[in-house]
Amino acid sequence: MKLSLALLALCNHHLSLAFVRSVKTLYPCTRSFSTSFVTNMSSSSTSSIESNLESVRSRVQSACEASGRSLDEVYLVAVSKTKPLNLLKEAYDNNQRIFGENYVQELISKAQDMPNDVEWHFIGTLQSNKASSLVKSVVPKASSLTIETVTSTKLANKLNNAMQDFEDENLEIFVQVNTSREESKGGVAPEDVLTLCQHISNSCPKLHLKGLMTIGAIGDLKCFDTLVKCRDEVAPALDRTDLFLSMGMSGDFEEAIARGATHVRVGSTIFGAREYPVKD
Ligand SMILES: *Cc1c(COP(=O)(O)O)cnc(C)c1O
Repeated sequence: MKLSLALLALCNHHLSLAFVRSVKTLYPCTRSFSTSFVTNMSSSSTSSIESNLESVRSRVQSACEASGRSLDEVYLVAVSKTKPLNLLKEAYDNNQRIFGENYVQELISKAQDMPNDVEWHFIGTLQSNKASSLVKSVVPKASSLTIETVTSTKLANKLNNAMQDFEDENLEIFVQVNTSREESKGGVAPEDVLTLCQHISNSCPKLHLKGLMTIGAIGDLKCFDTLVKCRDEVAPALDRTDLFLSMGMSGDFEEAIARGATHVRVGSTIFGAREYPVKD
């Protein structure tokens, strides 16, 4: 299944390239073509979503090869918070389908405007009182919605309730772990992860526990090892062998892949530095 999707994505890519080429033949002076020509051929520092994505993908591939992992084990979440829609569309046109967002209103609005085969990941702090509007607005507009930042039974219950309107769908969930135990970071303490995962698994039938997520302290790769340990505790207790690990950002995604990440959340390396400070 995964393989055929990958092949399909590849075919789409080639089709769209062929399309661009044929457009060029018909309209040799179109501006959009000359732009893509420059980015395709240029080895200068020209920054574009297309070349940034290409470079991140090839770094993901090299990191997989270096640790003997298969490329299809690792998903790239393109973190587009604070970035305008046209940049997301550019990534979409380059076959990116998984996007990460941090703010409820921003995600709701982008999900309205992007094609509905996007897989959205919410990766910001989620207040329980916004859980319902997030779910009810985004689920109907998306291929799927994943909340990576579930940190309490209260939030899990709210999400589970909000999903009651959607008969045939489940909400994808990661439990966020505060592996660095920093006050500034969200997440449950490593010793509390199992209890929350058991609650989701036993008492929230509309939620599907997909795995564990962490941010970690900058430069402290032991945080990734802590997340792996949490997974190794939870998986046998829930009789699961398929729990994912979301860890690694622009500065450390290759190290995270070496340590077992299945989802890397990369923002600024794809979309450029964020221009205004991140609100909370
Ligand atoms: C912003 C953000 C990212 C992406 O960070 P970059 O350093 O820009 O790649 C990843 N994860 C979370 C939780 C974030 O808030």
